[in-house]
Amino acid sequence: MVIDYILDFVFPPRCIICGSLTGYGLNIKICNKCSENAEYVENDWDYTYTLNNKLGHKVYFDGGKAVFKYKFVKKSIERFKYFGARSLGKEYAKIMYEYFADSGLFEKADCIVSVPINKHRFKTRGYDQAGYLAEKLAEASNIEFVPNGIIRHKNTMPQNKLGVNERFKNVKDAFSVGNFDFKYKNVIIVDDIFTTGATINECAKVLKISGANKVYFMTFAAAGESLGSDENV
Ligand SMILES: [Zn+2]
Repeated sequence: MVIDYILDFVFPPRCIICGSLTGYGLNIKICNKCSENAEYVENDWDYTYTLNNKLGHKVYFDGGKAVFKYKFVKKSIERFKYFGARSLGKEYAKIMYEYFADSGLFEKADCIVSVPINKHRFKTRGYDQAGYLAEKLAEASNIEFVPNGIIRHKNTMPQNKLGVNERFKNVKDAFSVGNFDFKYKNVIIVDDIFTTGATINECAKVLKISGANKVYFMTFAAAGESLGSDENV
């Protein structure tokens, strides 16, 4: 669109991963260097590793996808989450849409929800990064976005302050569904990062209890033991 070109000249496009200037008119703003060095989550990634294989938790979701390994996009996600770079969310959503296009999940899904943010985090951050990402992915894929589809009714500790077992306890029974009928629906849960899967699994649980048919997740990045690292994110 013309407006995009005008904006490109006023605010020269920067690589969303490393922040360096990129060429004009790129649909996805990733510089050549980052494209060449990108570390993607492999297709055979075992996202149930911590949840099920290691800790024996019941897995409530039916599948899911992540684009990048967290360590590759760490700096970018920190800008998105903690330094107010909200516009990155739109670019993340574009990448997620392209990368997951062949997964078949968009065709199956009836609606998209996000992992709800902590109230006090919302106050300090001023926006709900997962909600924004979910909304943009819904726009790109032309699937209904359900704002507040899942509600957090317990103020949990930030997961990155906790060990693996504590993460599961921390989010247990923390969520319920919002004012929307999920019965027989296929739902995609969106978040920025997948680590142990504890949070997404709790969200999937309440969706299944309220009658959802299939529940999938989509995240921009994935970290943790399921990818052979112990980064605390
Ligand atoms: Zn770059």
